Amino acid sequence: VIILRFKDGYCAAIDLGATNIRVALGLKNGNLLGKSTDLTDTTSGPDAISRQIASMIKFLQTELDLIHEELKGIGVGSIGPLDLKKGGVNKPANIPQYSFIPLVEPLETKFKVRVHLLNDCVASVVGERFFGLGTSEENLVYVTISTGIGGGVYVDGHLLIGKDGNAHEVGHMVIDSRGRLQCGCGKRGHWEAYSSGRNLPNYARLLIAEGAGNFEESMLNNYAHGDVYKITAANIFEAACKGDKLCLTIVEEVGKINAMGFANITNLYDPSLITVGGSVAQSNRELVLNHIVRRLDEYTINKPPRVVLTPLGGDIGLYGALAVAFSLHEDE
Ligand SMILES: [Zn+2]
Repeated sequence: VIILRFKDGYCAAIDLGATNIRVALGLKNGNLLGKSTDLTDTTSGPDAISRQIASMIKFLQTELDLIHEELKGIGVGSIGPLDLKKGGVNKPANIPQYSFIPLVEPLETKFKVRVHLLNDCVASVVGERFFGLGTSEENLVYVTISTGIGGGVYVDGHLLIGKDGNAHEVGHMVIDSRGRLQCGCGKRGHWEAYSSGRNLPNYARLLIAEGAGNFEESMLNNYAHGDVYKITAANIFEAACKGDKLCLTIVEEVGKINAMGFANITNLYDPSLITVGGSVAQSNRELVLNHIVRRLDEYTINKPPRVVLTPLGGDIGLYGALAVAFSLHEDE
């Protein structure tokens, strides 16, 4: 058996979501040595999640023949909302049965290394900054358009954190003063209530009700077997790709909402680059990004930034957690 040794040791990167936990072990240069994915255990009590993370780290250490003592740190990019003082997740909307999920204390006790905890999108922008397109950008924003919408922000080389670790909850910025749709967080008019993967069908139904087009004559009618409550975001993008008139209108309106979100980000943070990730953006790059880029200057006062898909893809959260584990975000 060859035992691998590394000059700076290795770290563990954790991407904690409500559905999946992803763990990687990696090096300071961004090289991921191995990855593992598991369904998040949300039924065995709040302490079970850190135990699950610990056993995934140990599984990878064994599988990769790594010396346990050379683990130098752990970085966690997590669903929010975070409580950084208590070192865990506080009343997560997507795991509502738990009031608090402890992460930092149990992992530090078990591994005797420092555990760095950040919001998943904040970790992702750190990943972009050190291992992606942001290596020469001091003013950089990462936006994910996925089940929800989230962001991470660097201004003048400083990573924005906030009092509890939840600065830049961009998905919950208000883009509809009439508050026509309710967000998963309970409030009305928030960006992600209109154009995240989960909520886009709600917006489509609203647009149809407001007269955007004829559902019966649309491909959506077939996809959803005539039930407007069965349409999905994927249906809408697929039909738009095939030239469906109603879905092209919906995608156009979604693009307008997204452009408002990106313009607000541009006006607030003045970035030179916004990278975009998340399943909705990755799978429908043209339909999502083109409208944003085309409409951005309708709403901006600041010079529009470059807007591109992240090259780190679905691993951006792991790269971010790895950079955070090596404290790269603190050494600047
Ligand atoms: Zn909200």
